[in-house]
Amino acid sequence: MPRNNKVPHIVFLFSDTGGGHRSAAQAIIEALEIYYPNQVTTKMVDFFVEYAPPPFDLAPATYAQMGQVPELWKLGYKLSDGKRRSKFIQEVLWPYIRKSTANLLKEHPCDLFLSVHPIVNTPILHALEEIPIPYMIVITDMVTTHAFWYSKRANLTLTPTEEARERGLEFGLNPDKIKVVGQPIADQFRRPSASKNELRKKFGWPEDLPVVLMVSGGEGMGPIEETVRAVDGAGLDLMMVVIAGRNQSLKQNLEDAVLQTPNEVLGFVENMPDLMNAADIIVTKAGPGTISEAFVAGLPIILYSRMPGQEDGNIDYVVDKGSGVWAPRPMDVVETLRLWLEDPSERQRVAAVSKSLSRPDASMDIAGEIIKIVNNPQI
Ligand code: UDP
Repeated sequence: MPRNNKVPHIVFLFSDTGGGHRSAAQAIIEALEIYYPNQVTTKMVDFFVEYAPPPFDLAPATYAQMGQVPELWKLGYKLSDGKRRSKFIQEVLWPYIRKSTANLLKEHPCDLFLSVHPIVNTPILHALEEIPIPYMIVITDMVTTHAFWYSKRANLTLTPTEEARERGLEFGLNPDKIKVVGQPIADQFRRPSASKNELRKKFGWPEDLPVVLMVSGGEGMGPIEETVRAVDGAGLDLMMVVIAGRNQSLKQNLEDAVLQTPNEVLGFVENMPDLMNAADIIVTKAGPGTISEAFVAGLPIILYSRMPGQEDGNIDYVVDKGSGVWAPRPMDVVETLRLWLEDPSERQRVAAVSKSLSRPDASMDIAGEIIKIVNNPQI
């Protein structure tokens, strides 16, 4: 039974290390509002910014900079991954974060914690040992899922792929407590607001030129500027729509660049479903959110960059399934675009594979699992 017979309250634990965790939490909240209106209340808590002691509170602000030193990030990722290592690190850190964790629990009484971030799970579950609040984990990495994602104490863990579920089983999770649902993405991906032609007209994009959407994650990461310049230099017959995310200097540089190819430069956009549904090809950093959205939009995918560690497996997933290519050098992007422009049937074949991997109902299904748990917390 929810606290005080009130509408159950759910606290979403996320952090802005990249745009993906926020997008995932927002997508689930949106699905609750659409498919289970007025049945729960929700609150998003950025635990790094609001609760973590220094220097961890700087994690969201420094995440994009970490992308500039990928080898260092990779080392940190590897050193902390694995059953024993992750346990050791969490035990060492526990005395340091114990107070912040207790504060979070005190200030956010709720009927369910839902985590969309790997780092927070062990400390909160540790603190919840004596407190009977259910805990759900929605994994937002596709394949190379960090050990921090998995905890036997969680009531339910939901994964975007079978690969992520299998890794959970290797960590000893009960098979009844881990399910594949897909990556939570905005509801508008399953209910496009208009047809492709209508959207293109609305955006003022040409109907007769392939439109390549270039996305660099929520933070504008990776060598997107070099890639844009290389595509421009190749003189391909296409339009580029470049999304710089929250990276203001990238946006400015691209706006100042003198490009021959028809193009549009955007900052952080709120209408990604419409943009993807209007485009023909996506060039993106290997972020799990953007890749899953591109599947639903049926876009062939060119991955030009990745955050080492957690995004390595996303590349293998896209390439092995055949929904796109890994093109780490700007010239590789150019060559793939050239191939797909010269052979539209190959582009359509890859697009169809992409569509076949889509899980448009993920957010709705996750919302359904939430409702089950808050109405029957002993699950
Ligand atoms: N996104 C957005 N507007 C932008 C750039 C990105 O809404 O201008 C969204 C994108 O659609 C995706 C998320 O931000 O849902 C990025 O998540 P992803 O996992 O791809 O990468 P991250 O930013 O976490 O590295």
